[in-house]
Amino acid sequence: MAEQGPINIMGAGLSGLAAATILAKAGREVHVHDIRDDSGARFDGDFQALENWSMDVDFFDQLKQWGFDTSEFKATEFTEVDLIHPDDEITQARSPKVSYRIVERGTSSHTIDQGIKRQALAAGAKIHYKTKVKEEDCQIIACGPKGTSAVAYGEIFHTEHPNHIAFQLNDKLAPGAYSYLIIIDGVGLICTCLWRKQKKSDRFLNETIAWYDKHYPGLNRQPIKRVGGKGDFTINANYLQDGRYYVGESGGLQDFMWGFGMRMAIWSGVLAAKDILGECDYDQEVRKQLLPYVKTSVANRWLMNRVGDRTFKRMCRSWMKDQKKRNDGLIWIGKLFRPTLLKSLLYRIVNPFMLKKDPKSMGRGVRRMPFRKPLKRDDWEPSEAAMAVKSQWNEVRKSGGKTSFSKDSDQVSVPES
Ligand SMILES: Cc1cc2nc3c(=O)[nH]c(=O)nc-3n(C[C@H](O)[C@H](O)[C@H](O)COP(=O)(O)OP(=O)(O)OC[C@H]3O[C@@H](n4cnc5c(N)ncnc54)[C@H](O)[C@@H]3O)c2cc1C
Repeated sequence: MAEQGPINIMGAGLSGLAAATILAKAGREVHVHDIRDDSGARFDGDFQALENWSMDVDFFDQLKQWGFDTSEFKATEFTEVDLIHPDDEITQARSPKVSYRIVERGTSSHTIDQGIKRQALAAGAKIHYKTKVKEEDCQIIACGPKGTSAVAYGEIFHTEHPNHIAFQLNDKLAPGAYSYLIIIDGVGLICTCLWRKQKKSDRFLNETIAWYDKHYPGLNRQPIKRVGGKGDFTINANYLQDGRYYVGESGGLQDFMWGFGMRMAIWSGVLAAKDILGECDYDQEVRKQLLPYVKTSVANRWLMNRVGDRTFKRMCRSWMKDQKKRNDGLIWIGKLFRPTLLKSLLYRIVNPFMLKKDPKSMGRGVRRMPFRKPLKRDDWEPSEAAMAVKSQWNEVRKSGGKTSFSKDSDQVSVPES
């Protein structure tokens, strides 16, 4: 149990604010320091999915049990998603249960970042923005990604299309990963994730948008801005080092396969706070509650790195077949994320080859998944439709449309000192 002095947290994102809320509620003096000018500023109105399939417990029940008010931010529940196969067939995965919730990231008042921030402030935490602190001076390190293992690029637009979600497995448009369409209350996001590093990466987003325009003719996109971000995928030997708790993405606690990380970010922040309050052992609980999922995702990522559209198609078929049999599309996807003996063995075999040592990890034994090189098949010429999407964006950009993430850099929203 840490001493009773003030607690300094580096990073006022999801994990840092979750920890701050629990600590401040318990009466501790908490200071959260962030280099950006607000919580959520790393993102710019992107929609993200709070997955609800990897465990039996509903994530909102967990949040409530930890004392968070889920009505403080906007979350739209979904029980269905369009599953877009690599050969453009579109089927629906559905479940009787809430499969996932879409939340917005950013600085608007209805975002999850601001919702958790309000709870941290109400509990008494002090948040200091635009400040630089040293890792050595903080007890909780919650500053998101450091390196880059993968990137995502998206466009936000106005649309009159009703709320809708689509998830596409397509190795050309989203090398090694997936693309998605999210529409919530008149605002849409089309995003593509690149798990292989690319030159001229804009062409992937333009081509993906052109694909959605063609297959969802009612979109009638009115582009607003372009967003994105990088993901840092690491395995750490120690989660508590020299009295510092590494939480969220800083502790490598997210899904290597597809990049889901919000749930583990908040969860690990809560665990770190509970350890400081003497209610649990952070390192032990991370290894018990979260690490088996992270390791499963490393095994999944290794498999994904070895396949292309043919296997993606097989996955889609198997998902749909399983859904028909069980009357629930959540079971198949849930199984993919859950630890098994086989995945745990696969993790042991493949992780030494997949991850590279980070020499700057202050003795924490961090091993990072490098951003993979492109493959020959990633070299293709944009279609005419994609060129038209590009010209449309250029026009919007000229009249003030902003890009908040470019050239794999996460620094765009960091204010100059
Ligand atoms: C484009 C994109 C889409 C994603 N989609 C999903 C999704 O659909 N579902 C999902 O679950 N996850 C998704 N993720 C992952 C998810 O966003 C992260 O796992 C999650 O935000 C990690 O939370 P965190 O608390 O570790 O970091 P963050 O919430 O990013 O907070 C980190 C904070 O630390 C601050 N900071 C950075 N450096 C410093 C420093 N040196 N000093 C002080 N403060 C600092 C930052 O400004 C930021 O406020 C996505 C990620 C990206 C990039």
